[in-house]
Amino acid sequence: MSEQRIRKIVILGGGTAGWMTAAALAKFMAPEFCAIELVESEDIPPVGVGEATIPQIQVFNQTLGIDEDDFIRKTRGTFKLGIEFRDWGAVGEHYIHGFGSLGRNMEALAFHHFWCKMQREGKAEPLGRYCLSALAATHGKFMRPIEAGDSPLSTIQYAYHFDAGLYALYLREYAEARGVTRTQGVVRQVQSDPKTGHLTGLTLGDGRFVEGELFIDCSGAQGLLIDKVLGVDFEDWGHWLPCDRAWAVASEPTAPLPSHTVSQAHGAGWQWRIPLQHRTGNGHVFSSAFMEPEEARSVLLNHLETRPVSEPRLLTFRVGKRTSFWEKNCVAIGLSSGFLEPLESTGIHLIQSFIGKLMAFFPDRAFSPVNRRYFNREAHDEYDRIRDFIILHYHATRRADTEFWNYVRTMPVPDTLQEKLVLFQANGYVHKEGNELFSGVSWAEVFIGQGILPERYHPLVDTIPGGEIERRLKHIESVIAQAVDYMPLHQDFISRHGGATTR
Ligand SMILES: Cc1cc2nc3c(=O)[nH]c(=O)nc-3n(C[C@H](O)[C@H](O)[C@H](O)COP(=O)(O)OP(=O)(O)OC[C@H]3O[C@@H](n4cnc5c(N)ncnc54)[C@H](O)[C@@H]3O)c2cc1C
Repeated sequence: MSEQRIRKIVILGGGTAGWMTAAALAKFMAPEFCAIELVESEDIPPVGVGEATIPQIQVFNQTLGIDEDDFIRKTRGTFKLGIEFRDWGAVGEHYIHGFGSLGRNMEALAFHHFWCKMQREGKAEPLGRYCLSALAATHGKFMRPIEAGDSPLSTIQYAYHFDAGLYALYLREYAEARGVTRTQGVVRQVQSDPKTGHLTGLTLGDGRFVEGELFIDCSGAQGLLIDKVLGVDFEDWGHWLPCDRAWAVASEPTAPLPSHTVSQAHGAGWQWRIPLQHRTGNGHVFSSAFMEPEEARSVLLNHLETRPVSEPRLLTFRVGKRTSFWEKNCVAIGLSSGFLEPLESTGIHLIQSFIGKLMAFFPDRAFSPVNRRYFNREAHDEYDRIRDFIILHYHATRRADTEFWNYVRTMPVPDTLQEKLVLFQANGYVHKEGNELFSGVSWAEVFIGQGILPERYHPLVDTIPGGEIERRLKHIESVIAQAVDYMPLHQDFISRHGGATTR
């Protein structure tokens, strides 16, 4: 073993970020190679939200070797095929950003180009009819992909909804079984090396000292290590994403069990509905500059589809990112690294992705600055691209019914987003940057769903006669409809695979 290897990692925080990090590191590092200690305080509860995910989380769970049925059962989870956006482009409109593919690409061109041509001629159905996950979600259906040749049933993509507290507990059991030590206590002081500024240990309220060589800051939005100790700044994006509060409340389960998240737009924000087996998670994300908290609370309660079973809880947040995520020997993961509001369920994904980057650029005790530089560069890029995608939902609207919508509709947006908008508006092209998270299909679904229809379509569309395109679209639509007919109800699928009462 290398003399220079890291021998002790300290993770500060036992929320979703802390336990995801602990579980993933423990999977690959035996205690005799590197000890891992997680410090958390029961007096400082985790944020307790963060219950909707995107399909990439399957990779995380598979890497850990987690059995999906067991996972769904223990986290009281459900399956998710996409997000339905209601009243976003205009009041009365709705669309689903479905996971997976859209239609079928033809002549190497993305499907939406053909759809755009047919839509102008009044010969296309709404876009969601060509997307298996969107149509299945509309009908409350779900199944895992099966071997079915060319059928869309063989490429179903999905994510999960789960209980955040149970997920952290699940990962805690996993991590502790692999040798992670859990230490309970409040961090009162942080020690560092006066020469290098590197962190050396945490002193707890009762005087215990937790020593380490690499520190992972999962202490939540306060960023106890990255901000309070290392003084890393926060880049605030509130001018682009003005929502800064959320009321969260649980209500009775939704029946029949939906297989998608709902995002219902309101006058100064939006409301989520996340279906779990034992309850429905609801929250109203709003901008305090445009709506008073008491009004926002009433809006939430007035729009619940099932009876509340908890008292609404107010959460305050700041949207933006750290100017550096890895500083000295400390890496910020989770809310300590920044926050993008949960519109596209990207918080947990960012945790997963940061863990992946940490593994890719894992340091030894020399802490080569180049590792840190690349980690930071990739992480900044990822945050910025997701930010643009989220801003698009607010900006691409025709709503003019409240001050909030007037603001977001007319505000200047980042150049990177503006260029993408201009390109799509002109001819339906989607520019995907580097390793950006959201696919061309996702961008096209949201552009079109929000009411942005390109002025032209790709010129090569006209190499196929119009009648032939129309025939192909009809065929795709009917294949997808038949596939959805074949799929079981989500409720029935859950009862067989991970319902709390199944064994
Ligand atoms: C309103 C809202 C909705 C969200 N919805 C989604 C969603 O649907 N999907 C999604 O992917 N993400 C969502 N997120 C993001 C998601 O909740 C977070 O990314 C995730 O929970 C990670 O939080 P965390 O572990 O970084 O921090 P926290 O949950 O805040 O955990 C912090 C931990 O640090 C510990 N700690 C802090 N200070 C000390 C100290 N001094 N001593 C000892 N221990 C300490 C605490 O005990 C706690 O264990 C949402 C966030 C918000 C605000």
